[in-house]
Amino acid sequence: MALTGIQILKMLPKKNCGECQIPTCLAFAMKVASGQAEIGECPYVSDEVKASIGEASAPPIRTVTIGSGDNAFKIGGETCLYRHEKRFENPTGIAVLVTTAMADADVDGRVERFKSLRYERVGVMMKADLIAIKDSDGDKAKFVALVQKVLEGAPDANIILMTEDAATMSEAAKLCSDRNPLLFGATDANVADMIGVAKDSGCPLGCKGSNIDNLIEVSEKAVEEGLKDVIIDTGARTLRDAFEDNIVARRASIKTKYKPLGFPTITFPCEMTDDPMMEAMIASVVMAKYTGIIVLSDLQGDLLFPLLLEQLNIFTDPQRPMVVQEDVYSINGPDENSPVLVTCNFSLTYFIVSGEIEGSNVPSWLLIKDTEGLSVLTAWAAGKFGADLIAQFMKKAGVEEKVKHRELIIPGYLASMKGELEEELPGWTITIGPREAGHLPAFLKEWKPAA
Ligand code: SF4
Repeated sequence: MALTGIQILKMLPKKNCGECQIPTCLAFAMKVASGQAEIGECPYVSDEVKASIGEASAPPIRTVTIGSGDNAFKIGGETCLYRHEKRFENPTGIAVLVTTAMADADVDGRVERFKSLRYERVGVMMKADLIAIKDSDGDKAKFVALVQKVLEGAPDANIILMTEDAATMSEAAKLCSDRNPLLFGATDANVADMIGVAKDSGCPLGCKGSNIDNLIEVSEKAVEEGLKDVIIDTGARTLRDAFEDNIVARRASIKTKYKPLGFPTITFPCEMTDDPMMEAMIASVVMAKYTGIIVLSDLQGDLLFPLLLEQLNIFTDPQRPMVVQEDVYSINGPDENSPVLVTCNFSLTYFIVSGEIEGSNVPSWLLIKDTEGLSVLTAWAAGKFGADLIAQFMKKAGVEEKVKHRELIIPGYLASMKGELEEELPGWTITIGPREAGHLPAFLKEWKPAA
């Protein structure tokens, strides 16, 4: 039974110190109760309280970490059925499959694409997260050699070890226990032995069923044996079955807190079709409907990139716009004669504008005003990008010490603000910039400070 905010508050130290980044203990307790904050974010609660609150307020789908250090990758932790109810917490991981049946060159190609297909968008590095290494022919030595090869070839890859032989799993897990791999998989035939390997290595265990009922039997055994970090696979190998099973598992966990299905799922589009386009489409559907990890047969930029964009869209918090920090950003090494531009802190605006300035090669100062993530016109209409606020920000940021000239470039859409801004910033000339960021390079190349 989940604890209420008031019950949680009674167990907090009530210092109201704000170190949890929330101003009061009451507000923090409410956030913990609603699953928006973790009890561990308060540095003053005892381990005992942490354990009892943590268990009671844990999300219905467990958060499982695969990997370690900077590359650690979290899945699960979900608390709702629909993104608009709150948000989806941890993005679906994308894995590429390599197997002992593949030629060396095929393995090398996949590892290479895993490392090279990376895209930066709005400050986020988008990429595949895991390499799934499969024992296709039951040859322990071959599997272990393949694991070794992948570990060396992709030092930042998170690893899924796929074998149903517990002795082989144990040996492979020892090779990469520092990377905290997912051990996949326990079936009803080997579950006891696989639980032993998972306990010895401390790694998460993947449980696989021939159908959802069979999976429940396997995952119940893992839970009974005290394993907490589990990933589940219902064995579905058609789009329809995977789609239905994912929905059943999510509903059972969220609506009834049904423990055996309260874990992130793994889905194998790579085993559902030989057509790469169809595989990407299956991956896209199951990503939208709750899959924790998708395993693909290969990575190709034209199919991976749309999946990564879908991932970015689905897992962006709809209640919190992506923002960049309010600051004065120097681009292309500006000096005291460089142009000064101002815009809002909505991430997309920042990355588009800064990208165009960078591309122009014109050294510039870009002032980013905190507008709580609103875009320029919306922020202006909401009173968060007014002339008075921009003037205050410029003074606080010491812009007058950075440049000799007194000319500020504002976005073309805010031309009507020119007069107000000149009143707020005596001695400054306000220049109206282009409406479209794409026209900035030409504009900046022509720009000269007023004599
Ligand atoms: S850090 Fe702890 S004590 Fe401080 S406000 Fe947050 S919950 Fe209260």
